[in-house]
Amino acid sequence: MKNDELRELYQDVIIEHSKRPRNFHPLEHGHHVDGYNPLCGDTVTVYLDVDGDRVNDCAFQGHGCAISTASASVMTETLKGKTRAEAEALFQEFHDLVTGKSEAADPEQLGKLAVFAGVSEFPARVKCATLCWHTARAALEGKDEPVSTE
Ligand code: ZN
Repeated sequence: MKNDELRELYQDVIIEHSKRPRNFHPLEHGHHVDGYNPLCGDTVTVYLDVDGDRVNDCAFQGHGCAISTASASVMTETLKGKTRAEAEALFQEFHDLVTGKSEAADPEQLGKLAVFAGVSEFPARVKCATLCWHTARAALEGKDEPVSTE
């Protein structure tokens, strides 16, 4: 596949997830943390239901740009069933991907998260893509304070 086609495919996935976000609801059980990206105005609440070492369920709510909504949608799909260590590793891989340190990223491990590779070309949007991940990490650590990207 040519790079242009790949980019279009990636854009389609992001647009689709931003229009019809997955797991867009609160969770009755578990822990939640609010996140805010003042740079763009994105807000997100990430809900995590962790059973021992494993993420049982993950959901989110919020308002934001297409990138922040799509990122949270794909993240909730990705984190379900992962262990704490796997979630932390994915956070690092994803962060490396969207900040352009792509040599560190493992495309196979990233799966659908790879659609956000194009974000590295737009540094102002990096925080839109990583807001939900920072928030999920805080929720995983059992923190209560809201997360801000600034
Ligand atoms: Zn944004």
